[in-house]
Amino acid sequence: MAGFAGLVRDVPDFPRPGIVFKDILPLLADGRGFAAAVAAMAQPWRDARVSAVAGVEARGFILGAALARELDVGFVPIRKPGKLPGAVHEVSYDLEYGSDRLQVQQGALAAGERVLLVDDVLATGGTLLAAAHLLGNLRVELLGAAVLVELAALGGRARWRDPSPVLATLVY
Ligand code: AMP
Repeated sequence: MAGFAGLVRDVPDFPRPGIVFKDILPLLADGRGFAAAVAAMAQPWRDARVSAVAGVEARGFILGAALARELDVGFVPIRKPGKLPGAVHEVSYDLEYGSDRLQVQQGALAAGERVLLVDDVLATGGTLLAAAHLLGNLRVELLGAAVLVELAALGGRARWRDPSPVLATLVY
């Protein structure tokens, strides 16, 4: 695995008992590690003619914005409800208990835009799937998704129904 993999820290029983949290903050704090991770995430997409990166709140903002700079395109945030001013597009999705919503500003992505979706961790896949549905309601072309970490045992990849690829840099 890539050298920067050692900068992703396992935190057992966070935020709840039984969850092993993948903490990417040590990686973000390491200049060379952060740069190497972003370069590795960007590499498969360099020739994909990405025209915008959409990142999911909150760690998807950090990686997504860095990836957008790396690919020389703009960044669009996908946020939890109540954070974005003006009119929004919205999608609801089920959580283990209850449901949540994701929003994107109307007009943030032009029709025909070639969008790369970014998040930090692919776990059960619910978040990435919901973000893809949200983008699916816009007239954009979803090129795929880039995540830094995939927790393969949780099966999130199997829930991704879009024909576009999900590319993970570190797979556990
Ligand atoms: P999921 O919807 O289950 O794929 O969860 C993905 C979202 O939850 C991502 O935005 C992650 O930031 C966060 N997440 C879920 N599980 C973990 C984990 N084990 N470690 C770190 N972040 C996680």
